[in-house]
Order: sequence, then structure tokens, then C-alpha cells
Amino acid sequence: MSQNSTTQLRVLLAKPRGFCAGVERAIEIVERALALYGPPVYVRHEIVHNKHVVESLRAQGAVFVEELDEIPEGAVTIFSAHGVSTAVVEEAQRRNLPVIDATCPLVTKVHKEGRNHARKGREVILIGHAGHPEVEGTQGRIPGGVHLVSRAEDVAAIDVRDPEKVAYVTQTTLSVDDTRDIIEALRARFPKISGPDVRDICYATQNRQQAVRELVAQVDMLLVVGARNSSNSNRLREIGAESGVPSYLIDDAHGLEPSWLENVRTVGVTAGASAPEKLVQDLIDRLGDFGSVSVEALAGVEEHMQFKLPRQLTGTVASVG
Ligand code: SF4
Repeated sequence: MSQNSTTQLRVLLAKPRGFCAGVERAIEIVERALALYGPPVYVRHEIVHNKHVVESLRAQGAVFVEELDEIPEGAVTIFSAHGVSTAVVEEAQRRNLPVIDATCPLVTKVHKEGRNHARKGREVILIGHAGHPEVEGTQGRIPGGVHLVSRAEDVAAIDVRDPEKVAYVTQTTLSVDDTRDIIEALRARFPKISGPDVRDICYATQNRQQAVRELVAQVDMLLVVGARNSSNSNRLREIGAESGVPSYLIDDAHGLEPSWLENVRTVGVTAGASAPEKLVQDLIDRLGDFGSVSVEALAGVEEHMQFKLPRQLTGTVASVG
């Protein structure tokens, strides 16, 4: 689509979109740690899955590593919002690393559920995507091993000791619909299975998915601002695609391909839970290169969720600077 000032583009914004309380908290933890202890502070894994967030924190003195052995003795160490396994916690203790845990409290809740099931002698099935850091962390928090399933078809192949003693937990950022299918398959195979229904899927994931369902009914194309490795951003794009609307996941405004706008009059825009609102505003500016743009936000759920900061960081910043 070439630049054309007579083209009218209507932009509809999903609500809610972008940062959730867990991501806000994780970013604030790194910023407060930098203010309190001074740079560098070390963060195991990207604090949240967004390169813009990571680059901004890196510029302030955060150092991102994948493994604890990359962290010098005694350096302030932050665990990312996705959570870590017990083995990582123990390694940090062994190395006397001063740790601040930015794991989202909703992920911690899933860890606790899983451990409770294991304590009661149940084998735990985790619904999630292999290799995702949240899944690795949750797997590594539940003693006795965890069966991982990511599709309803996987359920038939699970090999358990006692089909009467099984439970499931889920990754927080899955699609509510996909999870429902997997849970149905689990209940069909293990009628006595214990689990949280779909409640492990966090409020932010559910709200953003619901907002996209409402949005895609009204648009010709969906743009999701978010990182490729962001689970919840991928699910938002999938919801758009499943409803038959061309749907694209882009890191930022540069990812927009002009050809996508052919014959498009109404563009739906949302953002994953780790994508800053500035990226959405940049995208709207870029859409302005292709015509005159009117922007409306859908009425949607207001979010008021807030999580407490870790004890080490509360009430002391003012006395440091
Ligand atoms: S998406 Fe949900 S679980 Fe993940 S950080 Fe945000 S609130 Fe926490």
C-alpha cells in the first residue's frame, strides 16, 4: 500500500492490552534494585519477554544472563517474572548470591499448587509449552517429576503409575480455549483428576484474550505488538487467526509490512502483557504514514491488580539515593 493521504484507516484498540501487574512489578524490581544497590545487577533470563524492556534496563546497568555461573560472586541477582526451578534456587544459595525474586506471584501460586499435589501423592501433569522458561521453572519446582502436555492429542500417551492419583496445573499464559480442550481430554482419561479448572490461566491473559475476541469481530486485520518468544502474545495472534482475520505479531512499528494494509479499512491493535504502551503508540504513528488515521479504544475490563514488591526493596529507596 503506498502513502495516500486520502486513505482512511480506522484503528480499534483492544482493552486491556499491554503490561500486566506481574510485568510492571518485575520491571520495577530491576529499577529499584539498580537504585538501591547501584549497577550492575544481574538478571537471570530476560526479565520479561520484550527486547525494548530488556534494552532499556540494560542501558540502566542491568546485565542479563542465562545461567547463574555467569554471575560474579556476591552480585545482586534477580530471577525473572517467569520463575525458576528449585535447582536454580539451590545453586544461588550454594553460591551465596543475594537474590531478589521477580517471579510473578501468579506463577508462584502454580508452583505451590503443584507441590501440594505432589505432597498428597498425586502425579502432576503440567499443561504448557516445552522449553518455555515458565514451564521449565514449574517442572523444576514439583518433586517427583512432571508430565508435560501441550495438546489434547498428547493426553493419550501419558504414562502414570496410578490413574486415580493424578492432578494438573497449567502455564499461566495459554489460550483459554486450548486449555479447555486439554482439560476435557484429561478428565475423560482420568475421571478423578484434581485440578484448578482453567484458573491457572492468569487474569491478564484471560482479559487480553477476551478483549481480542471482541476486537476481531470488528476489524479487517489484527496487529499484536509483542515478542516472538512471548507466550501470551502468540496466543493473542492465534485467536485473531482462528477467527479468520489476517493477524500478525510484530515486535514494534518497524515490523509492519505495508502490503498487509491492502484493502484494509479497520485495523485492530493489541499488545502482549510484556509490551510497553509506547510501542502501540509508535505503531499508530506509523499507520499514519499510510493514510489518515482515526483511533478508538474499545470499552473493556478495567484492571486494578497490583502485586507487592519483595521485602528487600520496599520503603528503602528514598534513603539510598
Ligand atoms: S502474564 Fe499473568 S502470570 Fe505472567 S507476569 Fe503477567 S500477570 Fe503474571
